[in-house]
Amino acid sequence: MTRNPVFWRAKGRRPFSDVDFVVVFIVSENWWLRVAASPVELPETFMIAHRYAASRMFERPRGTNDWGPEDMAKRRFVESRFIQLAESFGFREVSTPTFESLDLFTAKSGSAIVRELYAFKDQGGRDLALRPEFTASILRFYVSDLRSRPKPIKVYTTGNVFRYEEPQKGRYREFFQLNAEIIGGATLPSDAEVLALAIGTMRAIGLKQVKARIGNIGILRGFLPFAPADQAVVLHSLDKRNFPMLDAELDRLGRPDLSKALRQLVELSGDVSILDQAAKILGSEAGAGFEYLRKIADLLDAYGVSQQDYAFDMGVVRGLDYYTGMVFEIDSPNLGAEKQVGGGGAYNLAEVFGGERIAQTGFALGLDRLVMSAEAERATETPRPLDAYVVPIGEGVQKKAIEVLMSLRAAGLGADIDLVGRGPSKNLDYANAIGARYAVLLGEKELKASKATVRDMASGVQREVPLTDLVDAILSRPARGPEPAKPKRRAAGTRAERSRRR
Ligand code: AMP
Repeated sequence: MTRNPVFWRAKGRRPFSDVDFVVVFIVSENWWLRVAASPVELPETFMIAHRYAASRMFERPRGTNDWGPEDMAKRRFVESRFIQLAESFGFREVSTPTFESLDLFTAKSGSAIVRELYAFKDQGGRDLALRPEFTASILRFYVSDLRSRPKPIKVYTTGNVFRYEEPQKGRYREFFQLNAEIIGGATLPSDAEVLALAIGTMRAIGLKQVKARIGNIGILRGFLPFAPADQAVVLHSLDKRNFPMLDAELDRLGRPDLSKALRQLVELSGDVSILDQAAKILGSEAGAGFEYLRKIADLLDAYGVSQQDYAFDMGVVRGLDYYTGMVFEIDSPNLGAEKQVGGGGAYNLAEVFGGERIAQTGFALGLDRLVMSAEAERATETPRPLDAYVVPIGEGVQKKAIEVLMSLRAAGLGADIDLVGRGPSKNLDYANAIGARYAVLLGEKELKASKATVRDMASGVQREVPLTDLVDAILSRPARGPEPAKPKRRAAGTRAERSRRR
């Protein structure tokens, strides 16, 4: 917290007008120091001192992230790969509110979920919560509005979600998800379609090391002869691999005999052959569930999904009550503890929200973690560089330079212009620093001849181009003229500018 400034007068207690300089200390978290060159500057010095004293630096809230231009380019890259693929699969984009009625989430996940939410009352006293995911909102939207549309309904959405979690690397309080849902399709083809989209997104991003683990919670539910609430506790202990808790629950429910089979089952992971082993452990009753997974494997094959890209894993439980059948998770081995980049499966929520019984399946991918994973696998694209940076030379050319700039922008090129009023040399330094492909130098002489000097920033080659050919010149590959670059960076204006600054 910044406090009031404390002043010491230089040279004892002489009046301010009588001293050569004054040092102003402001006691704060950051120490600011200003030296007034002469007593004339004193009022300004005090003003600045008070301004510093009054302003404090803000930190972003815990568990949130700022995204600078480079990170944002990576995020948009990953997101756009998902969007392109989802569109090509016939999914259509929807958007739902960032906050919803709190009841929506407690109806879906029980009252304990409130601890994990950003829940609040608005000024009208309504209980609301920032969305912690998309599925609840989409199913609410389906039940209230989308129901009458032809089935299946295939929608996707992207955006930020909020959870009150203990932040760590890869685990945030605000993060981003890519979400897709199919409502009202037949179960098997819909499950295969969402799996193909989720796994395909990994490939479209260029991730090679991530792998999906596919299970079937329906098999486990069928095997556990308990009421839904008891089943949920047992499934939760399996999800967390908390075997002491599992044993305690099975004891309480009078079925300790199930422990061995369940422990063996959740450890099974591998190719389609593990389904036979799992079937042996559970006996004939679970046969249909394993047959279902075999059919999923067949369909994934038809989608061109390689067997390297997934494993069957009977330990994928996804602990939530509303999952009914196929469930899956996707891991990136590069991410350490928070390695899960996505998860989903078949569920039943429409009924919970007052709708009909209808098949629903979908997934959510964690965009923040996908970006981290893409960075680790060096899969992100280098952002497209700025095509042209326009450098007006002299004040008289400003308007014309803006017209040239706008003609480049209108042609779909990325173009920017000096907004600082730098001299040509500093402008070229800037164009270089921002990675512009070309600098377009516009002086009075060039403009009189309706020309511009175009400088290829990589090679330094400069050439004069008629303004009518400017777009083509910038669209074309970099110039390789016979003449080496004229080092115009030492232009007269520049030197003058330098000396002026001194
Ligand atoms: P979920 O809705 O819990 O199934 O999460 C779907 C995906 O969102 C996960 O696989 C993670 O990649 C991502 N995710 C979940 N929680 C967080 C979080 N707190 N911070 C960042 N990403 C998260």
